[in-house]
Amino acid sequence: MIFFRKKQEIIDPYTVEQCDSCNIAKKRKFVEGDYVFKIIDKCSSCNNGQISISKIFGEVVK
Ligand SMILES: [Zn+2]
Repeated sequence: MIFFRKKQEIIDPYTVEQCDSCNIAKKRKFVEGDYVFKIIDKCSSCNNGQISISKIFGEVVK
C-alpha cells in the first residue's frame, strides 16, 4: 500500500512484529488490517512467546 502525504512525498508503510518473550523483531511491509498490538502468531524462535505488532511506521521513498 502506498499513499501520499504531501506532494512529491511517497510514504511506504512498514510493520514491525516482535516476540513478547525473546524480543526477536522482524520488519515487513504493512498490509491492510495491521494494527499495533495485533497478535500474529506463536514465536517459532523461542517456542514460548507470542508475536505481535509492536510498531507501524512509514518511510519516505525517494
Ligand atoms: Zn520468541
